[in-house]
Amino acid sequence: MSLTVNVFNSGYVPVNGGPGWDSASTATWPASTATLIAGERDAILVDALMTIDEGHQLASWIDETGKNLTSIVITHGHGDHFFGAGPVLAAFPGARLLALNTTVVDEGRRHLEPEILQNWIGWFGDRFDHHAAVPQPLGTEALTVEEHSVHLIEVGGADGALATVVHIPELDTVCAGDAVYNNIHMWLWNSTPASRRTWLSTIDAIAAMYPTTIIAGHKDPDAPDDNAARQLAQSRSYVDAFDQAVATSHSAQALINDMTQSFPNYGNPYTLFLSAHSQYQT
Ligand SMILES: [Zn+2]
Repeated sequence: MSLTVNVFNSGYVPVNGGPGWDSASTATWPASTATLIAGERDAILVDALMTIDEGHQLASWIDETGKNLTSIVITHGHGDHFFGAGPVLAAFPGARLLALNTTVVDEGRRHLEPEILQNWIGWFGDRFDHHAAVPQPLGTEALTVEEHSVHLIEVGGADGALATVVHIPELDTVCAGDAVYNNIHMWLWNSTPASRRTWLSTIDAIAAMYPTTIIAGHKDPDAPDDNAARQLAQSRSYVDAFDQAVATSHSAQALINDMTQSFPNYGNPYTLFLSAHSQYQT
């Protein structure tokens, strides 16, 4: 029997928009995924969302499958991928919270320190655990779900953090964390020409795994997962287009207009708003 993969999508989550955001429309956090990779009895969860409420939803969603959760694997150390783990760990006390290495773990720890924590509080207030559990370093790429091999692989930088992805060779599937996006504006907040080049190499590293299915950490709930080539191409062209638009635009609004014209149907305009404004701070 082969592994099965099921995806939980948080949908777009209202957040506080902060300075400059036109409150006539609701600012939202990009729809985010958590993925359950299951064998006959055991399962692992890839990423654990953000809010306490999402954590509870995740825990009941896993519980309904009847599977025994052995670990939660975090792709990268951004709060929106592990702050929600608490209720899942409480529901499955045998499960371990893991990330590949100390680089990811240290990044996660920084997200709970005042400088970065205050950003999360600005967006989500007290809807998340300000003392969330930090993952432990796994120290190896090799994971197993029963007798099946699953790999947790370092692929480089993406949205500012070291990106690791979960590769499931027998299903030609990659859980890409935030290295690949699916029909949603990409998080290019505080990105630089160098970080954008790094991100493009990371996308190439995932392409070299020849996946047919990619489960993006942030995806529009209606976007299919089973067209990896489309997601890779769209993510590449988005980073490229943003890079060029920064070089030719003279204001955040011009950059937003340019990107909106190129990617009119992408979800979460608030992400583009933040990414654009981060490029014009003095
Ligand atoms: Zn994220």
